[in-house]
Amino acid sequence: MKKSRMLAVLGGGIFCVAVMSLYRMLELMQGAELKQHMDKPNGQDEDLSLLQQKIERLELLLSNNNRLVATLRDTLIQRKASWETGRGANGSSGSARQLPGCRLAEEIKEGTDEVQLLDVYDLLPFDNPDGGAWKQGFDIRYQGNEWDEQPLEVFLVPHSHNDPGWLKTFDRYYEDQTKHILDNMLIKLSEDSRRKMIWAEISYFSKWWNGINEQKREAVKRLVGAGQLEIVTGGWVMADEANSHYFAMLDQLMEGHQWIQRHLGVKPITGWAVDPFGHSPSMAYLLKGAGLSHMVIQRVHYAIKKHFSQQRTLEFLWRQSWDSSPRSDITCHMMPFYSYDVPHTCGPNPAVCCQFDFHRLPGGRVFCPWRIPPQPITEQNVQESPSPIGPVPQKSRLFRSPVLMVPLETTSARRRARGRQFTNYQKLFDCPTSTRSCVKARFGTLSDYFSALSRRVAAGTTLPTVRGDFFTYADRDDHYWSGYFTSRPFYKRLDRMLEATLR
Ligand SMILES: [Zn+2]
Repeated sequence: MKKSRMLAVLGGGIFCVAVMSLYRMLELMQGAELKQHMDKPNGQDEDLSLLQQKIERLELLLSNNNRLVATLRDTLIQRKASWETGRGANGSSGSARQLPGCRLAEEIKEGTDEVQLLDVYDLLPFDNPDGGAWKQGFDIRYQGNEWDEQPLEVFLVPHSHNDPGWLKTFDRYYEDQTKHILDNMLIKLSEDSRRKMIWAEISYFSKWWNGINEQKREAVKRLVGAGQLEIVTGGWVMADEANSHYFAMLDQLMEGHQWIQRHLGVKPITGWAVDPFGHSPSMAYLLKGAGLSHMVIQRVHYAIKKHFSQQRTLEFLWRQSWDSSPRSDITCHMMPFYSYDVPHTCGPNPAVCCQFDFHRLPGGRVFCPWRIPPQPITEQNVQESPSPIGPVPQKSRLFRSPVLMVPLETTSARRRARGRQFTNYQKLFDCPTSTRSCVKARFGTLSDYFSALSRRVAAGTTLPTVRGDFFTYADRDDHYWSGYFTSRPFYKRLDRMLEATLR
């Protein structure tokens, strides 16, 4: 009994302590909650006032910005109005005098054969209408008797385009493609002296050169000496013309030219830039200074290409904006169509031109996306074609002279040469069909083409003068290639630091 009473007292005691502890805990929790409630309004007030201050600062900045933009706009409107008044009174030369710190050349007179690209940009609606077969252009018509007096002279310029690094590394591209392209070039050109080719990227060419024996090197020199192989531009790479500092553009040009001079003993005289995204007059200036007299550009906004095609100004003397004399002029050929591959170089209709890309013969790895494959040229079907390369007469209507350049991608970074282009085209050229008497076609280098053009210019064909640059590039719709202006800032800065250290 005693034991159970003690247990009851102990149990009661524990119960009392537990209840009291529970009560105390509840009291403490309530106190904390109360304190929290008491504190919170003050914290919120602080946050709100901070937020308010921030909003007020932003409002101030915004209104300052608005004022700044309005001032800029008013200044521009005033400047434009005075520019136009000046031009109306004195010709465009008036504008040059009104721009402080910027002396534009004063020779541009309205009505002369001179093009100022800034004016062209104002003129074009950039409206992107569907041009039909030539999607970004227009229907090109011709009678057929245009070349009765002066035969159309066509130069097919075999070329390759090899990026020193794009989807693969420089070395991977070399092993997978470029090495084989150059090996095949040596074989195919040595087989037939009528075959020609141009090469641009010296970084690859020098790597290949290091791996071939003395006998092959002598064969290369013979091909260069005979005018079958022409080194064009001769830069270490096909340089970017938008982001690069001019020192880097010059440096890679010197690197390439010194290599060519040392190993081949020649100097490039023609330029070939088919894949920089937009083209800069600074590059034209550097090329001219490096001894080049002619150049080709390709990646120009499609609306500008269309305008130049309509005006027949695709071939022009590119003059520096600041130059009052022709001393900086370099003769420039702008490709009219979308790309430098065969479907976009022989004429306005890629479905038809693709049938002249004999790399895409049925059974191969590449084919025509327009679903009409090329056919091997035979003695029978060669008679059917009224022109050696179907649409070249159409393309010729875009140019002032009766000489025409048709770039021919014989090999590319994606496929190896097998000589199909050379053999099939030669059959087309050799065909004695009488209906083709007005078209003379053959393989040529850039120098062959530009020499023929120069002869026409000497005989009276005139070329306009163009000032300005070809930025920003768009290849279709609103696909503007401007992201690369600002992408990878770390590497861009690193490049500049390295250049500064190297010089
Ligand atoms: Zn490229």
